[in-house]
Amino acid sequence: MTTAWDNEVIVVGAGPGGSATAYHLASAGIRTLLIDKSAFPRDKVCGDCLSPRAQHYLARLGLLEQVAGESHQATRIRFRAPAGAEAQTAITGAGAMPNRTLVLPRRRFDLLLQQHALAAGARFRVGHVRALAAGGGVELEGERLPARLVVIATGAALSLIKRTALAPRGSVHSVAARCYLAQLPPPGPDLRFFFDHLPLPGYAWLFPTGQNSANLGYWYSGGAGISATALLPKLLREHPILAPLSGPAVDAGPVAGYPIRSDFLRAPTRADGLLAVGEAAGLVNPFTGEGIDYALESAERAADSILMALRRGPTVGPLPASALAGYSRSLKQRFGSLFLLMALAQRHAFNPWVFNRLFGRGADGQRLVDTLIQVCFGAAPPSRVLAPVELIRLLLSRPAGG
Ligand SMILES: Cc1cc2nc3c(=O)[nH]c(=O)nc-3n(C[C@H](O)[C@H](O)[C@H](O)COP(=O)(O)OP(=O)(O)OC[C@H]3O[C@@H](n4cnc5c(N)ncnc54)[C@H](O)[C@@H]3O)c2cc1C
Repeated sequence: MTTAWDNEVIVVGAGPGGSATAYHLASAGIRTLLIDKSAFPRDKVCGDCLSPRAQHYLARLGLLEQVAGESHQATRIRFRAPAGAEAQTAITGAGAMPNRTLVLPRRRFDLLLQQHALAAGARFRVGHVRALAAGGGVELEGERLPARLVVIATGAALSLIKRTALAPRGSVHSVAARCYLAQLPPPGPDLRFFFDHLPLPGYAWLFPTGQNSANLGYWYSGGAGISATALLPKLLREHPILAPLSGPAVDAGPVAGYPIRSDFLRAPTRADGLLAVGEAAGLVNPFTGEGIDYALESAERAADSILMALRRGPTVGPLPASALAGYSRSLKQRFGSLFLLMALAQRHAFNPWVFNRLFGRGADGQRLVDTLIQVCFGAAPPSRVLAPVELIRLLLSRPAGG
């Protein structure tokens, strides 16, 4: 006897990871239901920055042109070291990836992605999923919605995932906060990162969203219990660059904070009838805090594995974890060494001594800064940054004039 499944796959969470998964599955003819606790459009606390890699995956979704047309574009990044020295680097995408970043507020970006999934044939329901259903699928407001697979794409929210076999191990969160500023004096076209006048490990960012507006934020990833939400208003008042810049600006929204999960190296990514994509799989770079590109890429990899499992695996009942093993394997191969390196960098390199020696060192430091950013953006393999002789020589040399 076969069971008639209304939905073959249910995707919980319509952020970039969930909507991209739903798009790929629906495009391949899979009956897909996308559920989010919020009606769209909805806000998501973020820096709103799309890396070259994120744009590459948007192009594969057929959405890049539209997103780029609505975004603010930047081709350079500027850094400020704890002692005040500055460095800058060009944004480089690997291969054919664009040499730029895009900044588009998530309220709009996530709506475009969600609508794209629906246009491909996915269905959408608003609802807060609090539990999985016995035998496959989810419970939603007293109703059982069966499915052969549930994709958890709930980002850093833990309420659902911690009640499943994909519950994260150990403590997993850091917290970042951002606000929007309008009527700024033109902040310039570049993305800016500040490592000065604030607690490390962490950084403040200023990402222009237009000629006179920007997304300004702060991420703290250390263990000292510092509140990013409390610290950001202080930076706006006291930081030597940010305070004069933001002084004449108009507050275009409150400071809002949200957790970040970057525990991919420890995170379970599949179980019977269950798979995690994006930040629900801990896929946020532990050094940079960016996760949209990982969400989009993991969505594509998840959809490939799900399609194969639906075609080749058992034809009824929840898809077994063994049929989805290729997904977990491909994530580990793709991101394992990058996350290891980025976690090490977060723990050991995020200190004033390193940044003061890296930035503002002219040609000596430039190649390393360029390489580091390429590795962070996935445009160069992690092994490139581990050219130990050059790195150690630079770190141990005396700064010019020092
Ligand atoms: C302040 C801040 C700044 C950041 N800046 C950047 C940046 O500039 N660039 C970048 O690439 N990354 C950035 N990130 C990381 C990025 O926001 C995330 O990695 C990315 O949103 C992950 O996408 P996702 O689809 O996995 O999850 P999310 O985008 O978090 O989407 C999860 C969705 O699931 C829904 N949901 C959650 N629980 C349930 C439930 N139980 N039932 C139904 N729906 C549910 C939510 O409503 C949400 O819509 C930043 C993060 C923060 C906090």
